[in-house]
Amino acid sequence: MELNSKLKQIREGKSITLSKLAEKLEWPISKLSKIEGGSQDITFKELEELCVHLGESVHDIVGEKRITNVGDDLNMRELSKKFSEFIVNYGSVNRDNFGGNDVIKIITKVIPELITKDLDIDLQKFLVKGSGGNGQPAEVPWLSIFIRDITTTATKGLYLVFLVKADLSGMYLSLNQGFTYFKDKYGTKEGKVKIRKAAKEVRNLLNTIPSDSLFNIDLECVNSLGKGYEAGNIAAKYYSIDSILNDDMIYDIRDYITLYEELRGIIGDRTVEQFYDYLLLKEDGYELSEEEEVEAINKILTLKEDEEEYCVGFKGEKKEKKDSIIDNKGRKVYPRDPKIATNALKLAGYKCEVDENHCSFTRKSNGKNYTESHHLIPVNCQDDFDFSLDVEENVCSICSTCHNCIHYGEDEERMVLLEKLYKERKDHLDKVGLSVSFAELKKYYKIK
Ligand SMILES: [Zn+2]
Ligand SMILES: [Zn+2]
Repeated sequence: MELNSKLKQIREGKSITLSKLAEKLEWPISKLSKIEGGSQDITFKELEELCVHLGESVHDIVGEKRITNVGDDLNMRELSKKFSEFIVNYGSVNRDNFGGNDVIKIITKVIPELITKDLDIDLQKFLVKGSGGNGQPAEVPWLSIFIRDITTTATKGLYLVFLVKADLSGMYLSLNQGFTYFKDKYGTKEGKVKIRKAAKEVRNLLNTIPSDSLFNIDLECVNSLGKGYEAGNIAAKYYSIDSILNDDMIYDIRDYITLYEELRGIIGDRTVEQFYDYLLLKEDGYELSEEEEVEAINKILTLKEDEEEYCVGFKGEKKEKKDSIIDNKGRKVYPRDPKIATNALKLAGYKCEVDENHCSFTRKSNGKNYTESHHLIPVNCQDDFDFSLDVEENVCSICSTCHNCIHYGEDEERMVLLEKLYKERKDHLDKVGLSVSFAELKKYYKIK
C-alpha cells in the first residue's frame, strides 16, 4: 500500500475526521487532503508530526518500505544523492580547479544545509560543517556535526563526522574523537593507544549505540589525519558507494545524534578534559575508592614482582598532589595509586600496625599475612593539604578487624587505634608536608 493511502486508512480507522486532524496539525485541510490523495509529497518532518497526532510511530508506518521506495515519497534520499554526487565527482577535483569548485560546494554548503533542514537542526546548539580540503583536495574529506558546547573543531573533543574513504569507495558516519587531548597528555605514540582505549571506555558507557555499528573503520588512507579518525572511532555506520542511494541516512543521523546527546549527558558539566581524565584513570593505573584499591592491591601482589626492587622505604619527600577528578555523578574525587598502597603493606612486613600480633590469614596471591591499606589522613581531605596524601608515609597496613573498626567502630574504640597509628606516623607525615594535629585528625574522622 502506498504511504498516502496508508495514512488515510489509519486516520479513518481511528475515526478522526480530516478537518479535526488538520486542525490539530494546524495545517489547511486542503494540504492534508492532497497528501492523503497522493497529489502532494509529505516531508519527513511533516510525517513525524502527523504520526504524533495519529498516535503511531514513523517506523511502524513506513515499515520495510523505508528501504525500497518510501524515499521517493518523502524526498529523503536527497541526502544520499548529494553524498553520492560528491564522492563520485571528488576525484576530478585538483589543485588547479579547487577554487569555487561546485563539487567542493556540495560538502561545504549543499549537504550541511540539507542536513540542517531535513533534521530540523537547532543551529544554536549544533554546528554542521563540511570540508573538501584546503586549496587542494584532502585525503579524507569530512562533514561534522558538533554539539557546540562540547567542541566546534574535529581536532578536539567528541563529535559526529561523515568520513569519505580515501579510495572514494564509500564513507562512514562516525561518532569520533579529536586527538589533541591524547597528544598533549601522552605524546603521539602512546596517545594513539590511549585514544583507542578511550573509545572502548566510551562505548561501555553508552546505551544507545545502534546495533549494526562498526567499532573499527578503514579509510584506506596513509596520512596521520585519517589514521587519527580510524583510531578515534567510537561507533560507525558504513555506506558503500554502490548502495548509498538505497540508504535513508536521515534515520541513521537521527540515531547517531541521539547517541551523541546521550554522551553529552554523561559528560555533564565536566569539560572534555575532565571527562577523559576520569575515563582513563584506571587505564593510567589509578583507583578512586578504597574498595577498588583493595582489589588492585591483590592483583599487584599476584604479579609477584621482584620484592627487593619494588620495596623502597619511606622516601621522606614531599610529593606534588594530583588534580581532583570529577566522576560520572559530578562528584570531586582524588585518584589513588594502588602501587603506593601495596608498597606500604610490604614496608610494614604485611603486619598489622596497630599490633603486630593481630591474627589474620594467609593471602592466596602472595602467600603472606593478609592486611589492608588505609590512608591515615583520608584521601578526600586532600584540599586541606598542599602535598599529596597518596604517599607511603600516610598509608598504614592494618588487619581487617582493625580496618573495619577504624571505619565502622564506636568512637571510643576507633580513637584508640587512630591514636596508636598517629603516634607512629606523625614525624613521617611532617617530613612529607602533611602536618596534622591529633585534634584535626579526629575531626576528619568525625570523632567528637
Ligand atoms: Zn580504610
Ligand atoms: Zn589489627
